[in-house]
Order: sequence, then C-alpha cells, then structure tokens
Amino acid sequence: MTTFSNSAERMAEQVRQYADNSEPADGYCEKHQMAHIKVIRGEPWSGCPKCWSEETAAKAEIEGQNRHEEEQRRKRMYYLNKLSIMDEELEQATFDNFKTDTARQREVLAWARSMARYYYEGGRGNVVMTGEAGRGKSHLAYSIIKALSETQGSLAIIVNVVDLLDEIKSDFNQKQFWLNKLVEVDYLVLDDLGAEKISDWSKEIIYSILNKRTRTIITTNLSSKELAGSYGKRIASRLLKGCPKEHIMDFAGLDDERVKLWT
Ligand SMILES: [Zn+2]
Repeated sequence: MTTFSNSAERMAEQVRQYADNSEPADGYCEKHQMAHIKVIRGEPWSGCPKCWSEETAAKAEIEGQNRHEEEQRRKRMYYLNKLSIMDEELEQATFDNFKTDTARQREVLAWARSMARYYYEGGRGNVVMTGEAGRGKSHLAYSIIKALSETQGSLAIIVNVVDLLDEIKSDFNQKQFWLNKLVEVDYLVLDDLGAEKISDWSKEIIYSILNKRTRTIITTNLSSKELAGSYGKRIASRLLKGCPKEHIMDFAGLDDERVKLWT
C-alpha cells in the first residue's frame, strides 16, 4: 500500500505546511464551514483552503484533458499525413481546392461531400469511386477522410494499394503492422485498387483488410463488374459491402487533369 502511505504522508506534509505558512484571516467559507486563512510566506494569498484545493484539482483535470486532446490530435495527424502512403501532391487536397470548372466536376464534388456527411452522421458501408486515372478520385477520397478526421477527431489513412503491397513484400514483418493499422482506423481509403499485380497473395491481403472493416473508400480504375472479374465474388462482395448505388460514383466524363498540366 505504498500509494496510500505516500498520499497520507503528502497530506500530513500539506497540513504541516499550512500550519507553518498560514494564519487565520478574516472571512468565512459558507460552503465548507471553514474560516479563511492567509498565507504568510511566498505568494500572498488568502481564502478558503478547501475551495483552493478544489479549484486546483479542477484546473489539473482540465489540463489533463487538454493534454489528452493534444495527444489525440497528434496521433490523428500522424495517421493522416505520415502513415498514409500517397503521392506528395495529394497532401494538400481538400474539398475547397477541388477544381469546379465543369458541371461534372461540381457534381462529383457535391457527391463526395454528401458521402462525408453520410459518414459524419454515423452511416456505414463502403464508398467506391471508379474511373480512369487523373479524374480526381484520390483527391476527393482524401478530402473526405481529412474532413472527417478534422470534424470528428477520427483516425483515417489513405494507402496506395500498389505501394502498400510493395511495402509489405519488402519486409514481411510489415504485414501484421499494416493489417492492424488498416483494420483499426475509422476511415480507410484503398487508393487505386486494381493497379497492382493481382495474385492470390495480394487478394488475401485485400480480403483480410476489408473483411474486418465497415467503412472503406475504394478508388479504382475498374468498373464494379470488372472488380468481380479480377478479384472474384468473395472479395467483390466485401468491396461492395453496404454499398448501395448512391455510394458508387463513376468518374467518366471528367477530363484527365494531370494530362492538362503538360499541354
Ligand atoms: Zn470553501
């Protein structure tokens, strides 16, 4: 019972310090039925010692809470920015800097915002963005999880599937690490699914991730039909888990914004 004896000693010490360092003062605390005291050395102070302890304890609790919130924020930012496997250009992506020159662009942006709202309100199920590269799928997928991470304080990661599998292949100790992280996070984007070399090994990893999750955003250049063809029914059903038509967006009809950079 070291803790008890420590805290008892601490209390005794506090009482001794009060006695050494204080004298009765004018004033009376109705709440604690106690005369005020005046501190005679150090910082000048007078008042009810019990009120003082209560206020100090309350302050310490708030400080503890703030520290906890700051730790949570750091962890959240670490997941979103450092642990995520993505192109550098994606880091700045938000809903606000998505291009809205055409009606189609405005349409997919509004849809992506509505998916973020759906998750924000507690909705479950996957979201699938299909279409060719450079249409803004990754930009919007990352914007969704970034907005949720900021507004809900949730943990979110985006991983490029090709790079994730390379990472795991280069060091098999990484496999369990990544599976744990990707299953644990509230929101996950599997970016550019279908661009990897599809094998039984890669399929098993994708399956293990999806099987334990309820909210995953998938971006892919494959159509939902092609997904079933490439991955088989078992994985396709996990990919489209809780995924009604409104959760699937085909980015056809959008220009390749990356090609435009060069012309
Ligand atoms: Zn008091």
